[in-house]
Amino acid sequence: MADTPQRPANTAVRATGGVRQVRPKTEGWQQQKDAEGRPLLQFASPKRGKPPVHLADLTPEQRVEKVTELGLPGFRAKQLEKHYFTHWTSDPSDMTDLPAAGREELVAGVLPSLLTEVRRLQTDKGDTIKFLWRLHDGALVESVLMRYPGRITLCVSSQAGCGMNCPFCATGQAGLTRNMSAAEIVEQVVRANALIRAGGLGRAEHPDERVTNIVFMGMGEPLANYARVMQAVRVMVDKKHGLGMSARGITVSTVGLVPAIRKLAAEDIPVTFALSLHAPDDELRDELIPVNSRWKVDEALDAAREYFDRTGRRVSIEYALIRDMNDHPWRADLLAEKLNARGRGWVHVNPIPLNPTPGSVWDASERSVQQEFVRRLNDAGVPTTIRDTRGKEIDGACGQLVATEEDQEAAAR
Ligand code: SF4
Repeated sequence: MADTPQRPANTAVRATGGVRQVRPKTEGWQQQKDAEGRPLLQFASPKRGKPPVHLADLTPEQRVEKVTELGLPGFRAKQLEKHYFTHWTSDPSDMTDLPAAGREELVAGVLPSLLTEVRRLQTDKGDTIKFLWRLHDGALVESVLMRYPGRITLCVSSQAGCGMNCPFCATGQAGLTRNMSAAEIVEQVVRANALIRAGGLGRAEHPDERVTNIVFMGMGEPLANYARVMQAVRVMVDKKHGLGMSARGITVSTVGLVPAIRKLAAEDIPVTFALSLHAPDDELRDELIPVNSRWKVDEALDAAREYFDRTGRRVSIEYALIRDMNDHPWRADLLAEKLNARGRGWVHVNPIPLNPTPGSVWDASERSVQQEFVRRLNDAGVPTTIRDTRGKEIDGACGQLVATEEDQEAAAR
């Protein structure tokens, strides 16, 4: 039987059954605070020049209008959709079914260039690639492409930077630059598909390979950019006018923006939902995930349970295991207790050994500690599996590549 969870006193270094607990603290970085001295949360995107409007930002009807405005018959929109969403090209020379006169202008107007590749890092085996992209206004974002047996997953960014200010996260440390447009999100998938088709992702299992799974776990808090993220998801799953992916293969994650979780549950798109919890107690979570000051652990878990009730889709709880910080046996027990209090069979837990920020106290838990954490949850009847940390050797933690690039650019100035 699992031990009863016991919460230690709040001290800078706590003794928890002989295990040191380091309280969240940052190194060489000043966390931005609001007027009341709490970690600053940025929900609104700073005003910057908007990216050019692209086919993927528009509904099918708006695409026809746009093409008509450019002086062409509406059916050209369908041809452009096919080139972009089926053949993954924005190159006018591939589009010989469009009239040669004015083709370049038409394509530039409807499929403007959105992402410029700055860098590409690949693992030795070639089955993981990390992209660094520059947006039209110079903002940098990342995506990570991963081949697994039977599936190919792309981790996409939904914002340049992030306003959620989580102290263990390289992206959070840089603040929010701006929301990404729906098309900037979709373009990450289209570019990955084009690369896979060209043989750029290790050994192919079959000739028609493409991205099968999307996880919104790159830069940004997806639900803070709700409308654009949902437009991108609609385009991803649209079989007639989009990429035709399965909604179940798309995972939208959040640190717990409760009203937006409820909104997501009411959408008629059964995506997989993941709550990045990282601590089962408000005392620690207030510091690890500053948005917890708005919506507490219990509120976030209630909203996650509601997601299951409305969609029938089992919810994932993401839990980055951070050495001596949130990986104590009593926290595994408390997490199990809180999940079981909301019923059985609605949730599974994915502990993820933290991808450390270089040179940081934010380190991954010991393997034996990870195993004990998982065992306690499983013994309590909560299905729990450790997620692999692909891309660790290539600055896999979100925001690290951008931070490195910005440092280099600053040094060169
Ligand atoms: S962990 Fe996620 S929500 Fe928190 S700052 Fe980083 S990107 Fe934003």
